[in-house]
Amino acid sequence: MPLSMMTVRLKIIFLKSVWQLRKLFFLSVSAFYLVFVPVVVSAQENSISPYSRLFKLRGDLHIHSKTASFDSICLSPGCRSFSASEQFTEAYQAGLDFAAVTEHLRHPLPPYKKASEQQWHKVIASAQRYRPEDMITFYGYEWGSSMQSCYWLDADKKDYGHRVVILPPGESRYCLADQCRTPDELARFMAKVGAVGITAHPWRTLIVDPKFNEQKRDSLPAFLSRNYFDYRGNGQDDVWIGAEVGPDFYSISGQWALSPICEQPKLRLDTQTVTVPEWEDALANGKWLAAISSSDRHFDFIPFGLRTTVVFAKERSHQGIMEALRARRTLAAYMMPFNVELYSGSAMFGDTVDKSKMLSIKLDADSGSVEEMQLNRPGETIRSWKGDNAIGLFRIPAQDIPSGPVWVHIIGTEVDDNLHLQRTTITSPIWLK
Ligand SMILES: [Zn+2]
Ligand SMILES: [Zn+2]
Repeated sequence: MPLSMMTVRLKIIFLKSVWQLRKLFFLSVSAFYLVFVPVVVSAQENSISPYSRLFKLRGDLHIHSKTASFDSICLSPGCRSFSASEQFTEAYQAGLDFAAVTEHLRHPLPPYKKASEQQWHKVIASAQRYRPEDMITFYGYEWGSSMQSCYWLDADKKDYGHRVVILPPGESRYCLADQCRTPDELARFMAKVGAVGITAHPWRTLIVDPKFNEQKRDSLPAFLSRNYFDYRGNGQDDVWIGAEVGPDFYSISGQWALSPICEQPKLRLDTQTVTVPEWEDALANGKWLAAISSSDRHFDFIPFGLRTTVVFAKERSHQGIMEALRARRTLAAYMMPFNVELYSGSAMFGDTVDKSKMLSIKLDADSGSVEEMQLNRPGETIRSWKGDNAIGLFRIPAQDIPSGPVWVHIIGTEVDDNLHLQRTTITSPIWLK
């Protein structure tokens, strides 16, 4: 293991212990209020965060392994790939409270080879090896449409991108793009088996003529988006629970993907990850979507714990996490999640709040660790706080904010050694009506 990776891992282990200590602190604080000062609690009802009653669990809902994902076997030297079992072990060692291995199960290109039943049952067995008190393990798969001849690029052909499907424990049925051809069809399947779906890594694709002058890039019109949020409502039974909101994934560029797929060898491909703006667009269009952050880990390039989702669960169990996901009570984090809460009385992330109410934002962070905290709605920052001024409890009247979703976005001062991205936490929205 290179020294820099070792440093990252040690740092993650250290941060993880801080995180555990904080959980203990919150539990003891809530126990204190319950036992000793019930009168104060009722008198100051609005200043007590409703999140203090819940388990704060941190995990990763999008992981691949060589057990059943066609693209998770290392071809280059120096790269390490993992079986489903090994991925769960790594996630556990990184201190995650929950993890989901979500395999591709089908190659996106002809002849569309599928994982075997034996491979799939090996993934399920790997998840079942963990006791919930150690780590809550899920399994599922990543549905990919785009089975057309031009897999990446053709906006005219229906291309819905990738969806992570988290199955309930014990369920082994799945529905791939040859049977569930659209997100609406997939939603019907998920509702039937009790699964939930997450839009994976929304991004946009740009086709560039190699003769094109790079400096004129901004004037390029050819911005093709996959139809990531093209489904009715929130799917049957509101199964489309969230979207991965970044920060940016790696962009991919080059000529490598085009010639065999699109028969257009003269064109070059660029992808741009615009996860937060696409999520905002979807929210503005009436989608009820939590903020989710996952590693999409195939190899050892990204350590576990860098990109995680926090859920606020009523119990520490599979059912508790599924319920929290369905309620959209989540935080999406890059590096250690900020300890941030957005609430109004007893209403939390995912809830709808009357606009006559006050919003509370509470950020508990170390001095010097915050660059900026924003209260956002689609396309607009309503208010922002810089540096240490962001730390504390803030009360904001909701009456002048337009109806719709509002969420908190925090950018930290810390930058990771690996990808040089800043520590970021994005909360799921509260909806104002
Ligand atoms: Zn994907
Ligand atoms: Zn993936």
